[in-house]
Amino acid sequence: MKYEIIKDTDRKGFFIRVRSLNKAKHFAIHRTFLKRDKNGITQRHNITEHNSNEIIRSIQKKGITEGFIVVDNNDNVPISPRDITHKLQEKEINFTSTGHKLDHHWPIFSKLKDTGYSSIIRATLTLHQVCSSRCQFCSTINRNKKDSISLDEAKDFVKKLYFHQADFNEKHFKKYNNEYKKIHGSSIRLKGLILSGGGQPNLWPHFSEFVEWLSKLDIDLGLITNGFPAKVEDKIYNKFKWIRLSITPEDASPFYPEQKFNLQRIPENILDSDVTFGLSYVYGAWTSEEFLKRLRDTSLKWDVNYVRFLTDCNLGRTEQLKSHKELSKKLRNLNFIDQDGKNIDRFFHQLKFHGTQDEANILWDEGKCFLQTYNVFWDTTGHETNKKSYCYPCDSVTVLEEENSNSDAERKFNPSKWGTVTNDEVEKLYTEKWKKFFDPKDNCSACLFMKNNQKVKDLINYNYDKNKIKLDNNVEHINFP
Ligand code: SF4
Repeated sequence: MKYEIIKDTDRKGFFIRVRSLNKAKHFAIHRTFLKRDKNGITQRHNITEHNSNEIIRSIQKKGITEGFIVVDNNDNVPISPRDITHKLQEKEINFTSTGHKLDHHWPIFSKLKDTGYSSIIRATLTLHQVCSSRCQFCSTINRNKKDSISLDEAKDFVKKLYFHQADFNEKHFKKYNNEYKKIHGSSIRLKGLILSGGGQPNLWPHFSEFVEWLSKLDIDLGLITNGFPAKVEDKIYNKFKWIRLSITPEDASPFYPEQKFNLQRIPENILDSDVTFGLSYVYGAWTSEEFLKRLRDTSLKWDVNYVRFLTDCNLGRTEQLKSHKELSKKLRNLNFIDQDGKNIDRFFHQLKFHGTQDEANILWDEGKCFLQTYNVFWDTTGHETNKKSYCYPCDSVTVLEEENSNSDAERKFNPSKWGTVTNDEVEKLYTEKWKKFFDPKDNCSACLFMKNNQKVKDLINYNYDKNKIKLDNNVEHINFP
């Protein structure tokens, strides 16, 4: 095991601490766990001296995520996605990546079909690996705090995807570029950029200067953060098209006053502007009823555009589906969704879950990830040592927990398994033909984006000469497909 597991007591009570034995030694404190009986009923309990050995045995057997779900031996109730009450609706389509928005970018898939060349229209940058929270479900607990990039490196990366890629498409792929211009008013190039790094991209020293520079370009900007540090001037947030605030488990955040998320400072200009402001919450053993009610009241007070609920992606498929089922029931009881799983008001349940090996074998018959053809995720892991770091087709490679294996999800970016090109050569993703860097059948059977992969596959196989793609003009945030 790559983790140190200890039990102890502090002024808040008894806890189990999971500490990564990687260089930076990040850790998470667990004070609660879930217990499921033979009828499949799950209840939340405090960790105590009395039950701690049972939980530690469970962690040793099932890893640092599923280990905190103690299950009665007779619980073998099977589950399928169909058992979860959920209805896909516009909020989930607009504010997450379900694949629906890809239709709006069809000329790039028509180009790929005819020529074999990809087009990178969406990117995410982590910038650094700094975060002040210690979430129990952290997807990068094995990260190194010093893997940070410079402002020039960040700008060079964007310049290539924006200016150079546009020139390249104008010169070599006129036909597809002209079709793209008819829809988007621009050449094929970077259209949407998300800053998401290490929990708090706004703690990166060059954050404001970079955003200011980006705002002079015609790129839609998104921000994912755990909070709004006082040293960053509020006015910079007006430059974003959307901002998603992750609400962490309250005992994991050092900056929630009185350990209450609703007491944190939200810049007034975010609450009062056109920026789409949403909240995101991961459901798990740390979730109490009182918290969920407070989350509802706060989201109304702040008048946010949406509140997204999802489950811990570090869980394997079966446990994740069981968790989704519990979450769906809780949301129903709180009147966040109706009996058919439809959203009520601004709340929605994102039903995102791991795929299976059988699905992987059918989907990736050619052994290449389809997200790689339009999306890039540049993570800074390894930057301190190598002075460059890798791009990945998606961010979910850190949480690929293989079903029925005893190994945990990696909880870090592993370039030897999923890396494509380094940041200084990002242009290779569109100046060279779409190629295989790894086989998703071997490395990604638990992929969380199988539907998106399938959508791209369908768009590549589409008969563009015969049928026009119909665009749904009600879809928002189309540059974040
Ligand atoms: S997890 Fe899925 S989307 Fe991500 S790299 Fe693997 S195949 Fe691609």
